[in-house]
Amino acid sequence: MATAACAVCLLVLAILFAIDYRLDTGADAALIRQAAVAAGDPAQTGDIATDLARHRSDQFGQRLVVLAGSGLVLLFVVLAFAWRLVRRVEAPLDELRGVVERLASGAWTTRIEAPAGQYGAGLARALDRLRIALSDQAATGRALDIMLDSMNDAVFVTSPEGLIKRVNLAAAQLLGWSQMQLLGRELAYVISDQDRTNFNIEQAANETLELTVRTQSGQIIPVSLSGSVIAADDPRFQGCIFVARNITERKRAERRIRYLARYDTLTKIPNRLQFQHSLQQAIARARRAGRSLALMYVDLDHFKEVNDTFGHAAGDRALEILSERMIAKLPPDTMLGRLAGDEFALFVENLPPAEDNRPAIAAHARELLDELGRPFQLDQHELYVTSSVGIALCPQDADNVVDLIRNADAAMYHSKQNGGNSHSFFTPEMSAVAVERLMLKSKLRRAVERNELVMLYQPKVDLRDGRVVGGEALLRWRLPGHGDISPAQFIPLAEESNLIQEIGEWVLKRVCSDYRSWQDEVPKPGRISINLSLKQLRQAEFLTRYRSVFDDTGVSPSNFELEITETTLMTDARRMVRLLDELYAMGLHLSIDDFGTGYSSLSALQQFPVGTLKIDQSFVRHAAVSREDATLVRTIIEMGRNLDLEVVAEGIETREQLEFLRSLNCHCGQGRLFGEPMTATDFLQLLLAQSRGEAGYGGMFG
Ligand code: C2E
Ligand code: MG
Ligand code: MG
Repeated sequence: MATAACAVCLLVLAILFAIDYRLDTGADAALIRQAAVAAGDPAQTGDIATDLARHRSDQFGQRLVVLAGSGLVLLFVVLAFAWRLVRRVEAPLDELRGVVERLASGAWTTRIEAPAGQYGAGLARALDRLRIALSDQAATGRALDIMLDSMNDAVFVTSPEGLIKRVNLAAAQLLGWSQMQLLGRELAYVISDQDRTNFNIEQAANETLELTVRTQSGQIIPVSLSGSVIAADDPRFQGCIFVARNITERKRAERRIRYLARYDTLTKIPNRLQFQHSLQQAIARARRAGRSLALMYVDLDHFKEVNDTFGHAAGDRALEILSERMIAKLPPDTMLGRLAGDEFALFVENLPPAEDNRPAIAAHARELLDELGRPFQLDQHELYVTSSVGIALCPQDADNVVDLIRNADAAMYHSKQNGGNSHSFFTPEMSAVAVERLMLKSKLRRAVERNELVMLYQPKVDLRDGRVVGGEALLRWRLPGHGDISPAQFIPLAEESNLIQEIGEWVLKRVCSDYRSWQDEVPKPGRISINLSLKQLRQAEFLTRYRSVFDDTGVSPSNFELEITETTLMTDARRMVRLLDELYAMGLHLSIDDFGTGYSSLSALQQFPVGTLKIDQSFVRHAAVSREDATLVRTIIEMGRNLDLEVVAEGIETREQLEFLRSLNCHCGQGRLFGEPMTATDFLQLLLAQSRGEAGYGGMFG
């Protein structure tokens, strides 16, 4: 550039020089003409011109030399100036190049100052703006890294093909690889061998999967992997992002729940659900292999007494001991399960199909019974528990789980009926009874909540004039699709559990509230008797609960009579006397139900504060035809009179029976002759009719 400037300068000088020369030449011509005129000799014009030309030529040469010299000087000056100029620009540029290199190496924190001198300030400012922009961008990137690394879940960013482009710290920690080691690998690489074959990146990117990953050390970890596709126009950013959550704890909890749902926590053996499931599989195996299978249903005899006497903790300990014994005695190919409280079952697989397996199974059963019946130590007490075993064979007795268990249970029940500590094989006759019992037991539990219990009242009639003097409250279980079930059937079932307490309370509340509503309509509804079982009376809180029901309903206990069988009274006579004294003190009347069926003497019954004797219907039924029964009924009535007891005859069905009882001056009677047990509303109608003087039974009493 300097050279060009120099050349331009020279050119300008040359032009000036040429112009000067031209002017000089023009001036010379005029001078020559003037000189020729002055000399008066035009001929000299040529000489003058020649001299002048020579002079001019010399002058031109000198000027040329001067021009060349000054051109050179000028060129030198220009070059020197240009060199200085270049130096002044180059120094800040060098400085700024260093700055750019620093920026490239990621040093974005130091502010870029303008270099010394007047050059490069603008560039420095621009570079500083660039520095700030880069530093902001880098901060965003770092913030993303910090955020990803702060996540508890492992994050993998992959290419659309599944190559890992980015991972966070949690991913590295989960897998035991460094972040660098994971970059560039396929995501499938970290999936465990068992799940890798089915792993598909596209599927994984669109849903949440549960699979296992393999760590560097070879550990298998369950994760929940949820993926999504990164929708970006720029192909560099396209790919998928996956979040993997370690679900080891959840899986463990699930396993625990599954275990708890399938295993009995006390004995650690399969529960009913699991046992049935395994039995189903065993039946299928037996069917395929053409083999037989035997199911043994084991129920501990009177186990409730262990609980009642020693408490539930001791009962649990006993169950543990007994189940351990059973496990120790299990024949090969056998599985044991706990079906309910004290009910266990086991099945023996792989029995020969054609042979009669009964002797071998019977031997197992006997061995099991002996083992279970051995005494054991519990809270410094030595006790022993016998068991009852029922056996059903598959496919001979049943070929499915439900029927097989039901039949084995029926056989077990049969052993129980025979006094326990024995085993029985199922026979078809057993099933009907057991089916009924099982069904009732499971449904009774819900009867109270479902309002399936109904209270009926059977009128009690004064045998002198046929007046209704009260009634007996009789419970019914109105099971849908099954009709009414008698308490004689379900009360013993309720007594096997604590349900009897709940039912007993329900009965008292119902009777009290019915009584209240009758009192609103008739002044004296009479005395209502309520049946009580031994188990009810034995409940620890019986008295308190009874008292509170009377208090709550506001009905006086003196309107009621409690019916207790003589067997119940004599079971724990001393305690019973105390209890009945208390009930009597509350104002309740007490009567001995089903009198005559027990073995107690009347004098033994005198210790109780009872006011009424109820002659059992089985004697009344035959009294009119059987001499023995007639004598028995007469004796009871006479003895009752002597002891100042009111005597009630139950189950009067015929006129003959009525006449016979009247002839003996029996006080009261009840039975079908006067009416079946009826609803509270019907009983009220009966009382209302009587109060209007329209007594229903008048005709029978002449
Ligand atoms: P129970 O106290 O001896 O009751 C008399 C039973 O004889 C009743 O049977 C009654 O329906 C029936 N009966 C009445 N009249 C006649 C008749 O003329 N002929 C014949 N053959 N039977 C007649 P139910 O109602 O089936 O009750 C059976 C037993 O269940 C009762 O015997 C009683 O011991 C018990 N029971 C009834 N209700 C309750 C209750 O609420 N709680 C308790 N713990 N036991 C109850
Ligand atoms: Mg009764
Ligand atoms: Mg009775």
